[in-house]
Amino acid sequence: MTATDGYAYRRMQMVEALVRLGIRDQRVLEAMRVIPRDLFVPEAYRHAAYSEDVSINIGEGQTISQPRVVAAMTEAARIGPDDRVLEIGTGSGYQAAVLARLARFVFSIERIAPLARQAKARLDGLGIENVSIKVMDGTLGWRALAPFDAILVTAAAPDVPEPLIEQLVDGGRLVVPVGARESQVIRVVERRGERCVTRDLQGACFVPLIGRHGWQGEPT
Ligand code: SAH
Repeated sequence: MTATDGYAYRRMQMVEALVRLGIRDQRVLEAMRVIPRDLFVPEAYRHAAYSEDVSINIGEGQTISQPRVVAAMTEAARIGPDDRVLEIGTGSGYQAAVLARLARFVFSIERIAPLARQAKARLDGLGIENVSIKVMDGTLGWRALAPFDAILVTAAAPDVPEPLIEQLVDGGRLVVPVGARESQVIRVVERRGERCVTRDLQGACFVPLIGRHGWQGEPT
C-alpha cells in the first residue's frame, strides 16, 4: 500500500485534525494515515473523503462513518497486534481496513450482500489479507469463531446486544452505539470475568443495526 498517492497530503491533514480532537493512540493515527479512505467512497464524493467530520453515502441507504468517529471507536477498543477482532457492519470496508492494520485478524459481518462484495473487492485491491467478511445478522455475533478480543459495532443498536458480550474474551472490549434510531451514545463495555464495566464515550448518529438483537427493519 502506498502513501504517495494524490491524497497523501489530505490524509495527513485529516490525521492532524484527529490529534487536535484528542485522539492519542499512535497506532490508530498511523493506520488512518495510511489507509486510502478515498477508495472506500463513491467516486463523486472523493473530494470529501478526508474531512474528519463528514459521513458519506455508500449506497443501499448506508453511510461510511466520519473519520473522527472511526478514530474514537478504534482507540476505545484498544486493539493489540495479536488481537482477533469482530466488526458488525462492514459497509464500505474502511473500518475493517483500519482494524486490519492494528490486529492479527478481523472478522466482519454485513447484512447487505452487495456492500459486502464491494468491500471485499476494495480490501483485495489494497492487498489486505487478514479480513474475512460474511453476510449474515451480526447482532448474533459469529459464534463459531468466538471469543474475540474486541468487537466493534458500526450501526446503532437499541441496546447492547447480549450475544456480543458473551463472545468477548475475559478483558475483551465491545464498542457499540446505543440509543434511539436517530441519535446514540457510543458505549464501551469491558468484560471482567462475569462482570462488565461500562462507560460512555461520546454522542453519535449511526444508521440502524437491523436484526434479532437490533431494530426491526424491512427485509433486503
Ligand atoms: N463500518 C462501515 C460503516 C458501517 S454503516 C464502514 O467503515 O464503512 C453500517 C452498516 O451496518 C451498513 O452497511 C448496514 O447494512 C450494516 N448492518 C446493519 N445491521 C446489521 C446487522 N444486523 N448485521 C450486519 N450488518 C448490519
